[in-house]
Amino acid sequence: IFQEQLIEAKEKAESAAIIKSHFLANMSHEIRTPINGITGLANLLLKSKLTSKQQKYLNAILNSTDSLLVIIDDILDISKIEAGKMTIEKKKFEIRKAITNLMEEFNLKAIEKGLKFNLEIDDNVPNFVIGDIVRLNQILSNLLGNAIKFTSEGSIELTVKVIKTTKTKVNIEFEVTDTGIGISPSNLHSIFKAFTQVKENISSKYEGTGLGLSIVKKLLDLQKGNVSVQSELHEGSVFTFNICYKKSPSNLLEVPLIERNIPYDLVSLKNLNILIVEDNLINQIIAQDLLADQGCNVKIATNGEEAISMFLSHNFDIILMDIQMPIMNGYQAIEVIRSKIKQGQEKTPIIALTAFAIEGDKEKCIKLGADDYLSKPFNPNILFGKIARLTTGVQLMSPTKKGNLKKVSDFSNLVTITNGKVKLMVLTIKTLREEIPKDISLIKKTISTKDWNNLYKILHRTSPNFDLVLTQPLRNNLRIMQENAKAKINLDQIPKLFRQINNSVPKLLDDLNTELKKLTNGQ
Ligand code: ADP
Repeated sequence: IFQEQLIEAKEKAESAAIIKSHFLANMSHEIRTPINGITGLANLLLKSKLTSKQQKYLNAILNSTDSLLVIIDDILDISKIEAGKMTIEKKKFEIRKAITNLMEEFNLKAIEKGLKFNLEIDDNVPNFVIGDIVRLNQILSNLLGNAIKFTSEGSIELTVKVIKTTKTKVNIEFEVTDTGIGISPSNLHSIFKAFTQVKENISSKYEGTGLGLSIVKKLLDLQKGNVSVQSELHEGSVFTFNICYKKSPSNLLEVPLIERNIPYDLVSLKNLNILIVEDNLINQIIAQDLLADQGCNVKIATNGEEAISMFLSHNFDIILMDIQMPIMNGYQAIEVIRSKIKQGQEKTPIIALTAFAIEGDKEKCIKLGADDYLSKPFNPNILFGKIARLTTGVQLMSPTKKGNLKKVSDFSNLVTITNGKVKLMVLTIKTLREEIPKDISLIKKTISTKDWNNLYKILHRTSPNFDLVLTQPLRNNLRIMQENAKAKINLDQIPKLFRQINNSVPKLLDDLNTELKKLTNGQ
């Protein structure tokens, strides 16, 4: 009988924990929706003519809504972990890409605070691993968020490297370094406990719940990873953690797209035709206003059915799809749109916009065919970055790094092949300056006709030209295009790979001219 009572008590406790976790999940969603409204409208107000006082108040409102969202997410996660409901996925994901995508967001935050952000991913970190991308994002976001929060001067750095590799597994170490306020030795041991905030600096107050690091620790426990911290007061902190991932069977042709960083003003969103699918009037106003400001042509559908009929009757460069809508929701709309791929046209990219904080919903959007997702309320610059990447294949970089455009040219092969003979180099560059634009337009034309055999031949014939002057990553794009065209696989990657090359051509031609000037002046 005693045992029966125990079992009953245990079941009661478990169901209470589950009820609590459900309640919190629903509540968090209910709270998020009005916060979206507040954030969006405050952002719109910020753009109107304001006194400096009003501006300050508005910024304070936005800071408060940001903090509210973080708190809601933290409470939701802790309750899920405590209810034993936090599961760790074992799915293949692109780890390098996941990290660079995350950098997009934190680079902006760092710059807003006047901090530098450095990212270093070791070459031997694989492209694909098997594990949980959502949890990795969460851990990194927590640590990077703290690093930025507790640093007022200097820099933040994220380094990623492989510390051990076996036939089937790869152990990856992440290190987040900051030059911030640091933590005193007496407080170091307690910071991974829930609700712990250490007061190193009484004069300044930092917001937070003290939940972030305990969530990090628990998420790493669930993945059998470790986390440690080294810190010195007033000098900065280093948080190190590692996760052992299963290796993904390697597949040469699955090399991910090379993300190219490019300043904001080099890629404009001007004249993009964008369909916003959104039922909430306030959110419609916000999104339309933001995008119209960027010079986009915006059309609005208020539910999934409308979205589909507009998709069929217009040509859009990209669709922003809200998930929760009456009549037909976003999931259904994405599914229908993906089933109606228009003849002779590339797939229209879709970004799902969700107010859901519940795990699984974002993954569901991707599974149904969305290309990316963003939870509301979103940072406009992050939305612009995602739109740019999906419509041009180019990754936006923050404006302050302007001029630091990633290299597109590399003349080392040219020097080798000409044995450094200036006359020969000048002649070759002059020829390439004529030939490359012709090659590019031929490749472009052939891709549009989808004549893959011919594309293979053309790439085979023209690649020696590019080999002389393009950087290795871009040459890699060409190589993958060539292999894919020959084997007729992953054909939908080809236009994206090509777009990156096409986008580099103006810079490449510039570089050719500069090099030419250098060579002829030196004579
Ligand atoms: P919070 O929500 O308060 O940031 P965390 O669990 O993320 O909660 O962090 C707990 C405490 O650890 C923070 O309040 C802060 O005192 C300290 N801390 C965390 N990261 C850093 C860092 N990078 N530099 C200095 N102190 C930190």
